[in-house]
This record gives sequence, structure tokens and C-alpha cells, in this order.
Amino acid sequence: MPIYEYRCGQCEKTFETAQSVHARTEDTVCPFCNAQDATKLLSSFASKIVGTRKPGFSEMKAYNMLNERMSKFSKLPPVLGTRTPPPSNLFSSSDPPAGEPKKS
Ligand SMILES: [Zn+2]
Repeated sequence: MPIYEYRCGQCEKTFETAQSVHARTEDTVCPFCNAQDATKLLSSFASKIVGTRKPGFSEMKAYNMLNERMSKFSKLPPVLGTRTPPPSNLFSSSDPPAGEPKKS
């Protein structure tokens, strides 16, 4: 339920109230003097909580770890990757693997 901030036109006090989005301003009762003379304000308090919520530290850490892992993965040789097919000349007979032990 969103939090709205009002200023009472009778006692000129500001107050916050959580009410339905369908609630009308003229139905809002001042908690100080019970007058129905409130003016809706743009509540910076509510927007701080609901609107501009920053991701937590653990979320940022997980995001950074994911980025780091992805960057490491992209540096792997293409033959170990699953998405990119190996070059066609990689297994050509004219270029044998270097690690092959030579039999004498
Ligand atoms: Zn009032």
C-alpha cells in the first residue's frame, strides 16, 4: 500500500498515511484535528523507500561475480566453448596437435 503525504489545511500540519490508490484526497482525515481539508504532497519519503531502492550489497557482489565469471569464460579458447564451433582447420591432418608424444 503506497504512503501518501498530506498537509492539513486547518492546522497546517503534515502527516503521512498509507491508503489505497483509489482513496480520494477529500476523504483524507487529518489525524491532528480530524479535518477533511488535506492537500496531497509529493512525498519524498515514500519515493525513497519504494521508488529508488538501491540493490543491496549481496546483490551487487553476486552481480559482480557473475560478470567476472562471464568475462573469464569469454577468454577461454573457442575449442572449449560450447556456443562457438571450432575453426574448420583446427583438426586438419597437416597440423597435428603439439602435445602428441612422438613414438620413436
Ligand atoms: Zn489538521
